[in-house]
Amino acid sequence: MWTPRTNTTKNLTLWITHQCNLHCPFCRDSGNKNITDIMTFEEIKSSLEIAKEKGITTVLIGGGEPTLHPDIIDIAKLSKNMGFETVVTTNYTQPKIVEELSNICDTINVSVYPENIDNLPYQKDFKSILYFKSVLWSGRFKTRKDFDEYIDMLDKHSHTFGFCMMRGHSKWCREHKEIDWLDDLKNELDEIVMTDRGNPCWVYRGHPIDRKDISTKRMHHMMVDSRGWVYNELGVAQVDEEILNGETTISPKVD
Ligand code: SF4
Repeated sequence: MWTPRTNTTKNLTLWITHQCNLHCPFCRDSGNKNITDIMTFEEIKSSLEIAKEKGITTVLIGGGEPTLHPDIIDIAKLSKNMGFETVVTTNYTQPKIVEELSNICDTINVSVYPENIDNLPYQKDFKSILYFKSVLWSGRFKTRKDFDEYIDMLDKHSHTFGFCMMRGHSKWCREHKEIDWLDDLKNELDEIVMTDRGNPCWVYRGHPIDRKDISTKRMHHMMVDSRGWVYNELGVAQVDEEILNGETTISPKVD
């Protein structure tokens, strides 16, 4: 079904479902929530085979909320068995499934939201690397002290975590983008460095603050969902007409 021709070098992102049980106002996938089709196991297998041929080394399994996919465990096992570094990003609303995934995947990214903050897991209970991800927006932490306390709390659960700024992809995001206490922090932050995934970030107390608000021109991701579309690194659907018309060979656009 997919024969993508891309200049991507490292990562394949599988958006295995667009369904989610949360309604975050900053969700970059909110426009796709009406898509009820999920990627079938066979489609995923075929995507992974293509990724293998292309020399992709890391598979990022996400959505939507990937633990809502009925085959999530088998998908993670398949990816692992095919030799990919396998990373699942979840909102941790289904802890039992995540616990099972933690015996299969290399990394579990848990997005930390007000909805799940009281029942976060601990690294000591996970075989996979447990990485917490938090979105920063104005109003989430009133002061820098609040942010520091939050870091202290996360540190008790796992030493690996990071933060990201919002892209201005919706009205809500644009309205909540400016964070007063971050202005005080800026003078103490390292200059922007690049993560190994090619994203610009600040480092604060040893943890990256991913500047997702800064656009990049790199193309490290091949992104596939149930429509078979390929997205650019920014997660924005930039679909060539030929894909929409059912062509299978494409060159994704990069801004
Ligand atoms: S948990 Fe993730 S996919 Fe679900 S609404 Fe929030 S940001 Fe979107």
